[in-house]
Amino acid sequence: MKLAPYWWSSLNEGESIESPDAALPEEADCVVVGSGFAGLMAALTLRRHGRSVVVIDRTQPGLGAATRNGGICSGNIRIPHGELTEKGGRDYADQVYGEGVEARQDLARFIEEEQIDCAYHQPGWFQGAMSPADFDRMSREAERLQTVSEYQAKGHEIRIVGRDDQAGVINTTRFHGGILREGTGAFHPGRFFAGLLKLVRGEGVVICPQTIVRLIEDEGSRKRILTDRGSVLAGRVLVTTNAYTGRDQGFSRYLRRRLVPVQSAIIVTEDIGEDRVRSLFPQLSSFSTSANLSAYCRPTPDGRRVLLGSRSFDRLEPSRRTVDFLKSTLHGIFPDLGGAVIDYGWLGNVAFTQNHLPTIFEHDKVIYVGGYAGSGTVWARWLGRKAAEKVLATSNRPSVFDGAPPPEIPLYDGNPWFMPFFNGYFAIRDAINERRFRP
Ligand SMILES: Cc1cc2nc3c(=O)[nH]c(=O)nc-3n(C[C@H](O)[C@H](O)[C@H](O)COP(=O)(O)OP(=O)(O)OC[C@H]3O[C@@H](n4cnc5c(N)ncnc54)[C@H](O)[C@@H]3O)c2cc1C
Repeated sequence: MKLAPYWWSSLNEGESIESPDAALPEEADCVVVGSGFAGLMAALTLRRHGRSVVVIDRTQPGLGAATRNGGICSGNIRIPHGELTEKGGRDYADQVYGEGVEARQDLARFIEEEQIDCAYHQPGWFQGAMSPADFDRMSREAERLQTVSEYQAKGHEIRIVGRDDQAGVINTTRFHGGILREGTGAFHPGRFFAGLLKLVRGEGVVICPQTIVRLIEDEGSRKRILTDRGSVLAGRVLVTTNAYTGRDQGFSRYLRRRLVPVQSAIIVTEDIGEDRVRSLFPQLSSFSTSANLSAYCRPTPDGRRVLLGSRSFDRLEPSRRTVDFLKSTLHGIFPDLGGAVIDYGWLGNVAFTQNHLPTIFEHDKVIYVGGYAGSGTVWARWLGRKAAEKVLATSNRPSVFDGAPPPEIPLYDGNPWFMPFFNGYFAIRDAINERRFRP
């Protein structure tokens, strides 16, 4: 098994996600910390409005979550619409869900207009119910979402699929029915990132890889960004480090107390051929499970392999325990894949705020975005753009997530010591459900 993302081995010919070394300029209008989807989209937007922009990343661009994800493009919101209504009212809940649809459509338009060759398509996303109770709960949520105007405008964007009909979407007997979100897309994240990087570089943004930001200090009305390779003076600073914020840099303390990184792992099977993939995924839709330690699964863009991701129990490389957990999840859904060899396995981080919603906020004249809760292919790019619009003051409609910083998480300073306890508890609950409800 190769311990690296499948996406790195399947870029388009001549494409690269590497950026040549560049010296830090002395000053710039804007500095962006982090070069994932959010950082690059912010940089592109600012540059196209005439600002000089420097992007700084501690590694090569894209080696955070941007080229490690599953490539499902949903703009998903983790909190049920009803719960959001209770907290903030019906209008607020509609705005949150509406922005998810808008952000996803904006990604599709961007890919088309910029002609990024990343296999973007909209095969839909099936959320499979692991128990009859999950199916009832999910159906109620789907009925509720069908009354949100952005979904209504799309006709049958959300469809309840009963157990007897699900084989037309996902060929498994494991689920007790589910919900099909027909507008959800999927892409090759490596190719998308390579396309975005090319656009950003083509516009003349200075990208400084292998440069660690350590501190951000006031200097008159501007900010001095201190790195391990010198410093740069900037009018505005945007921080887009999300789940890779880390614990070791002084500049990030404010953010890391508000964002919890959660480790995620992915495996990709050997080439099992198009016919076998089609027999399992008749519509080539992605799917996820309603388990507490939820898994997501999709065909690779060439339609020849199967990718499955879920929670990881490791920190640096996938251990046998993590790979076995992912394999048994895959085989539990598709017993036919019992003998399939796993060719690729890797890890990455996703980040959560306390309320599990994305965030964009300003603190001490620095703009922060993050907390996409595992759905950043859509949200990170969108909030990167919104952060740039905040600097430019061009947006006539700020994001519904733009506001106060998310609350600090009690007893927490960037080390998610509590995650093993949560993972253990969820694993036990899932095992009990599995025994009770496996058809
Ligand atoms: C395994 C996995 C599967 C996923 N699957 C999906 C999916 O199917 N669909 C979906 O929508 N989302 C998915 N996600 C989430 C999605 O990939 C992320 O939310 C998104 O890529 C975040 O983008 P970003 O630009 O915010 O951050 P990143 O791409 O993580 O970029 C942050 C950058 O900040 C840099 N950085 C950190 N600290 C410093 C510093 N001190 N100085 C300089 N640079 C610094 C890092 O090096 C990194 O490059 C998945 C994530 C993982 C890990």
